[in-house]
Amino acid sequence: MKSQYRVVVIGGGIVGTSVLYHLAKFGWRDVALIERGELTCGSTWHAAGGFHVLNSNPNIAALQDYTISLYEEVARESGVSVGMHMTGGVSLAASAERMQMLKTERAMYDTLEIETRLVTPEEIRELCPIVEVKDLLGGLYDAHEGYMDPHGTTYAYAGAAKKHGAEIILRNRMTELQQLPDGRWSVITENGTLTADHVVNAAGLWARKVGNMVGVNLPVTPMQHHYLITEDVPELVALDREIVSITDLEGFTYLQPERKGVLLGIYERDPRHWQVDGAEWNFGMDLLPPDIDRILPELSIGFERFPALQNVGIRRWVNGAFTFTPDGNPLVGPVPGKRNYWVACGCMGGFSQGGALGLTLAQWMIHGDPGADIFGMDVARYGAFAAQDDYLKDMTRQFYARRFVISYPNEELPAGRPLKTSPCYEALKSEGAVYGCNWGMETPQFFAPGRPDFIERPTLRRSNAHDFVGDEVRATREAAGMFESAVYARYEVSGPAAAQWLDHLLASKLPRIGRVRLAPMLNPAGKLMGDLTVSRLAGDRFWLIGSYYLQAWHMRWFDDHLPQSGVSLRNLSDAWMGFAVSGPASREIISRLTDQNMSNAAFPFLTCLQMQMVGTDALVARLSLTGELGYEVNVPVTHQLALYEALRSAGKELGLRSIGNRALDSLRLEKSYGIWNSEFTQSCTPGMSNLARQVAFDKGDFIGRDAALRERETGAGKALVTLCIDAADADASGFEPVKCDGKLVGVVTSGAYGHFVKHSLALAYVDRNIANATPNLTVDVVGEPRLARILKEPAHDPRGVRLRS
Ligand SMILES: Cc1cc2nc3c(=O)[nH]c(=O)nc-3n(C[C@H](O)[C@H](O)[C@H](O)COP(=O)(O)OP(=O)(O)OC[C@H]3O[C@@H](n4cnc5c(N)ncnc54)[C@H](O)[C@@H]3O)c2cc1C
Repeated sequence: MKSQYRVVVIGGGIVGTSVLYHLAKFGWRDVALIERGELTCGSTWHAAGGFHVLNSNPNIAALQDYTISLYEEVARESGVSVGMHMTGGVSLAASAERMQMLKTERAMYDTLEIETRLVTPEEIRELCPIVEVKDLLGGLYDAHEGYMDPHGTTYAYAGAAKKHGAEIILRNRMTELQQLPDGRWSVITENGTLTADHVVNAAGLWARKVGNMVGVNLPVTPMQHHYLITEDVPELVALDREIVSITDLEGFTYLQPERKGVLLGIYERDPRHWQVDGAEWNFGMDLLPPDIDRILPELSIGFERFPALQNVGIRRWVNGAFTFTPDGNPLVGPVPGKRNYWVACGCMGGFSQGGALGLTLAQWMIHGDPGADIFGMDVARYGAFAAQDDYLKDMTRQFYARRFVISYPNEELPAGRPLKTSPCYEALKSEGAVYGCNWGMETPQFFAPGRPDFIERPTLRRSNAHDFVGDEVRATREAAGMFESAVYARYEVSGPAAAQWLDHLLASKLPRIGRVRLAPMLNPAGKLMGDLTVSRLAGDRFWLIGSYYLQAWHMRWFDDHLPQSGVSLRNLSDAWMGFAVSGPASREIISRLTDQNMSNAAFPFLTCLQMQMVGTDALVARLSLTGELGYEVNVPVTHQLALYEALRSAGKELGLRSIGNRALDSLRLEKSYGIWNSEFTQSCTPGMSNLARQVAFDKGDFIGRDAALRERETGAGKALVTLCIDAADADASGFEPVKCDGKLVGVVTSGAYGHFVKHSLALAYVDRNIANATPNLTVDVVGEPRLARILKEPAHDPRGVRLRS
């Protein structure tokens, strides 16, 4: 052990060794891993070692594909066998809805160019002769599934890392971390103290404790998990090949070959946490006592699905612990507010995701960019609320119990809710608001007026709420709609250096005083870091509006770039709220609340002004995401209810209606407007996303300028287009493949029914040569190919006349 390192990785499980391997392979020297005991002595040693590409988050599925493709190389480099059995695997469907879901997923894998195919019950029986198929409708076959040796794989990463120059220090617990004034870490271990430029928390079952050491409460907690291993199964002894792995989604079990027997794992509907704060320091390579009575219901289904198991003995029960996060995806990246402190933890599928975590973190540490859209596993996708014990336990319990349950795009799950509500929560509810949840905040999805008993049917197709949404869209286009802007984050930037800082941070020009601008924000690689709206209230005072759920993510970026002095940054997201009011009657409605002249001449498109309204200073900006004449009215949260009541009363005879997120989606797609996490992500560039026109290439230096200029010269390979889809009773929802004569040419980013224009619409990235042609396109909607055509202009008000009226 040396006294100084560039990076110290805490934890020698499958994740920590992968991080170490990637850092060393990509050329960083003086990187070391510190392990409390022996390698694998956390969750890793008793894992079933199963791996698969499939993940409901397509970006994570792509990264899982990377993990699996890496194993051969790691085994070769290290000379250690990873014990890989690429058996292939089948996810079973025993219901029509499940079959539909698998078809939809298969289309998504087409988009990712990951080969999967639908198989019949007969083919399933051929691939795995011990599975009962009489009630099955089919399955989804993935060739890149199988299982491996957890011990061998971890040692292979470690061996390959050492060959690249990394160091591994065993049997030495890190007991304390202290940050030095220069940002480095003093790492105190049982065997001495060392300094490290960076620390990576890859402490698995102990990750929360290792976070607590530096005052960070990570939303990660261990839960129990069972599998059993059988004696030899005669049907398999007679077979001269391995069976495929099987995931019985309706049965809550998975099965994989284990020599001539099988391993049967269970995701029970009544799961249990274990040591919510993380394992004790002296927890060894121990197992927990099996709790067979509790898992009996799922076990019984498993024994019916695989009847041969009823006649063989059980060689071993395993009840072990591994960690879960609220959405089941890992936590990766730099921890907001902690300089040089990184995490790679919360990983429930180390053998599918370990390589991806190592790759992502190493790229991030070395190049300042994770290399792909990894928001789905970024530690900054959560705020402090997510790590509160009650919330964490509720969410992880829900995730575990629903691990194999179908999740529908229109479904709003109950765990951890309501957590945060706006002052208008009850008032909107009494109007019929059906709520969803955005970063812990309840936000209306749609309104079912006069129907307090209305329950939306979860479905992949248009739901029974379709007509309510249609009414909201038409009301907005014909009169006015008011949308609670609780889904917005608001930041105030002020001070003598505020303009200079923002000018460097944002790729657009700054607006003049009293004006508003759409402002893309880039990273040095020229990828999007935000699609903000910036309002200039004074020479040295600005408001930035972004997405509510990106607060921790954006604050981390802002903090990382904030100068030592001259700029004050305040996150006002929970202190201010408001409504976005739009539609032809919106001017009249807003005028009734203020003495301010709201005429087009006095208050044109893209202006902002502080004005007296409902007894307070409101900040009003003239813009809208619906494409209609519209105003975003922001007030201190204390005045939001008063604003709501004033708007309702002013708009009563003018046809004003409350609208929710679904209507907003329909309205914005009719105008071809993109939003974050769909059209705009951290893997997109201004050139491909139509945001280049907001980039001020001539304004001097800003973050990402060189990369954006390069893209302007070479051109982006992809283009964002609007598609009109010949859909029947379902609309695209995102990640469907766009094909031209059967060949993949693009991917849908979001879709919805355009209720006013009466077409099914989608936005999609397609190959640029396709964008300017009139090709014969199809989009797979709920797994079925549908004809589609590119619209040359937005479906509604293409010239933007109404917006500027
Ligand atoms: C029963 C069961 C079956 C599973 N089956 C599968 C499967 O089939 N496929 C799959 O992909 N995943 C499976 N998993 C999950 C898998 O085990 C985890 O995803 C994986 O092991 C997580 O690895 P890790 O490196 O993040 O954490 P861990 O393996 O927990 O490693 C963390 C390491 O950090 C060390 N450490 C902690 N604190 C300190 C400190 N202060 N100082 C020094 N060292 C420290 C620990 O000693 C430990 O070795 C299973 C889990 C269980 C319980």
